Amino acid sequence: MSDTKSKSKELKEKLLMQRKNAFFRLTDDEVKVCDDFCEGYKNFMNSSKTEREAVITSAEILKSKGFVEYTNGMKLKAGDKIYRINRRKAVIAAVIGTENIENGVRLCAAHIDSPRLDLKQNPLYEDNEIALFKTHYYGGIKKYQWTTIPLSLHGVIVKADGTSVSVNIGEAENDPVFCVTDLLPHLANEQMKRPLAQGVKGEDLNIVIGSRPFRDDEASNAVKLNIMSILNEKYGIVEADFISAELEAVPAFKAKDVGFDRSLIGAYGHDDRVCAYPALMATVDCDSPKHTVVTVLTDKEETGSDGNTGLCSSYLKYFIADIAEALGSNGRTVLSASECLSADVNAAFDPTYPEVNERNNCAYVNKGVCITKYTGARGKSGTSDASAEFAGRIRRLMDSHNVIWQTGELGKVDEGGGGTVAAYIANLNVDTIDMGVPVLSMHAPYEIVSKIDTYMAYKAFAVFMAD
Ligand code: MN
Ligand code: MN
Repeated sequence: MSDTKSKSKELKEKLLMQRKNAFFRLTDDEVKVCDDFCEGYKNFMNSSKTEREAVITSAEILKSKGFVEYTNGMKLKAGDKIYRINRRKAVIAAVIGTENIENGVRLCAAHIDSPRLDLKQNPLYEDNEIALFKTHYYGGIKKYQWTTIPLSLHGVIVKADGTSVSVNIGEAENDPVFCVTDLLPHLANEQMKRPLAQGVKGEDLNIVIGSRPFRDDEASNAVKLNIMSILNEKYGIVEADFISAELEAVPAFKAKDVGFDRSLIGAYGHDDRVCAYPALMATVDCDSPKHTVVTVLTDKEETGSDGNTGLCSSYLKYFIADIAEALGSNGRTVLSASECLSADVNAAFDPTYPEVNERNNCAYVNKGVCITKYTGARGKSGTSDASAEFAGRIRRLMDSHNVIWQTGELGKVDEGGGGTVAAYIANLNVDTIDMGVPVLSMHAPYEIVSKIDTYMAYKAFAVFMAD
């Protein structure tokens, strides 16, 4: 009897897949390494609420670690550390490897834009003596989640004379914040009967920015005038300058530990900075790699990757061609031999909403970095679908370096779906697979990730870059 039992236990271990909580596979010291790594991540999050700010923070980190800005014509050799910024909204970092570049680069791609409320080009108006900003949401949001939370305003305004001014207000302790209102339940009978998607409509996402009129003015729109006067004093702008501005309203929350055990992190914009930061840190920690390492932190993923700062543009391809030529090869040859981890988040199983996931094929918090072979929707439409061979190679690589990982796809078949930049990189003839951190409440103003999973993403990227 006992023999049979031990035999089945032995067979189980040998034949069946284990999906243990990563905590049981780590010592207390190893868990502390994960937690310590996440202190740096929280700092990064608090100073990088938009793609522009993430580029500035990343460039500071890169420069402090000896990376220099790459310009065409620069001579390159093994060990060189370079970066290139694309229009202040995307950044590519590279470490030149010892191997011939014709054998391909190790590419890591994450995005640094997140869902938010963008100001319209003519945003400022007054209605019944309250001043507001009109917005157009950016990326996929559940609109009701963006009401009645403190918002900060970030971005840049280009004035008529061509000079520009940066805006960052609502983050410092004594800064004012901004807010989208919602109806009180007492008067929401009609609103509450609407389907959730229409409870708060796109044109309802108006941000309250003031309520006191300009004192000496008898005319209409005195509150608007007063706000414009404050903005003119603070930023030197006039109303028409909004036309050439990019102003983004984002949650004013700081990244914080979540839970009595502090095992999780709550923050705005984990998608996808929880992959961007580990990818960046793996790159700066990567000394004299065999293959050249290229990490791109891109913009515009949340709106489909179009535009010259998104990965449907050629900026990554051009960068690789430039360094390939500097090293005596060409972009086509290098890309065709390259491998890529498309570093993006996946949905974590939420015990409150279990019905959207298929339990054998979804990601769980604390079970490690998630490998996603394919994304897409309705019959894998829009996916690049990594080959079994490449999935096998990455799996072997992770296992041989004790990276704790899991596999999962985004929800049940036909429940919905989504994509990443994987397809656009795979389209350049690069072997590509998605790998990233599982997130709870993805695309909400406050998302949640696990500290262990976040560190495992760093470890996975580091192992891939060093291979
Ligand atoms: Mn993403
Ligand atoms: Mn997203």
